[in-house]
Amino acid sequence: MRPARALIDLQALRHNYRLAREVTGAKALAVIKADAYGHGAVRCAQALEAEADGFAVACIEEALQLREAGIRGPILLLEGFFEADELALIEQHGFWCVVHSLWQLEAIERSSVGTPLTVWLKMDSGMHRVGLHPADYQAAYRRLLASGKVAKIVLMSHFARADELDCPRSTEQLAVFEQARQGLAAEISLRNSPAVLGWPQIPSDWVRPGIMLYGATPFEQTQAVAAQLQPVMTLESKIISVRELPADEPVGYGARFVTERPTRVGVVAMGYADGYPRHAPTGTPVLVDGLPSRLIGRVSMDMLCVDLSDLPGAGLGSRVELWGRNILASDVAIRAGSIPYQLFCNLRRVPLLYSEG
Ligand SMILES: *Cc1c(COP(=O)(O)O)cnc(C)c1O
Repeated sequence: MRPARALIDLQALRHNYRLAREVTGAKALAVIKADAYGHGAVRCAQALEAEADGFAVACIEEALQLREAGIRGPILLLEGFFEADELALIEQHGFWCVVHSLWQLEAIERSSVGTPLTVWLKMDSGMHRVGLHPADYQAAYRRLLASGKVAKIVLMSHFARADELDCPRSTEQLAVFEQARQGLAAEISLRNSPAVLGWPQIPSDWVRPGIMLYGATPFEQTQAVAAQLQPVMTLESKIISVRELPADEPVGYGARFVTERPTRVGVVAMGYADGYPRHAPTGTPVLVDGLPSRLIGRVSMDMLCVDLSDLPGAGLGSRVELWGRNILASDVAIRAGSIPYQLFCNLRRVPLLYSEG
């Protein structure tokens, strides 16, 4: 069998979930959209179900997959419904539903929902993507309650720049939110991972941690709470071929790397078809048999090359960590001009192997 694989540590996932609750003292929806950021939504939900206050996904297809797998806890649809006829399934399965636009509010008013819904009413407090305008927020809240179709409303908004720890934008968004929700007696939910980790002064009855559950930091710089996260995924493979090259020899497509000295090149069974970023440049860190090394040359579809010149003990069959406990996915992402979110979501072809740590 091809040795490329992703090991998923479910104990680390639980550790990170508990950290989100501990540092905020809030209830936490585990955000497991996009197949739990590539970690496998059903297995992650099962690992968290005994303690999680609920889950959050992007759409009803993802929510139904969890219900079909036997997940019974609350599941929030982060963008609500895309078409009004989803409301019947939302009612049937008891999904919680974001309302971010007037057309969704009108669809609920017109619907024949019998069991009143739990709605998370989203305000655009400054990100300017989805959410009701602050000036329309109170009226929307009252209309939802008056519709008779809604039992409970949670007030929510989302930050655009919480990963920038010196940026005043999150505080400005908070001020807009607080002003517009004055007098509404309802729970609130504001904080995503960077806000959970880096913005302790921002209130939230419910937090919505995503990337931090998987043990990756959303920050580019080191941050004290993020340092307590445990990486959940280890992406690894093995060396399948070794080359001894003299100086001045090209390696890989486009001759993007040329040896400067006699070089031992290890070929690893891992490529961009597995989700390893093609734009990771020469010098991107990897770990070979537990020792630091570096990527050399272009990443190809099924293979990539690493420098074994200073690792005489390494060779055919040596284990290579592309990211995980030692090589942080966020470091690889920065090198490749990406973010750990995208690295995880892009994972494909490699089998996911689960363990309890
Ligand atoms: C994806 C998402 C989150 C989780 O964001 P992270 O940065 O991964 O913590 C939280 N809230 C909403 C509305 C989202 O869409």
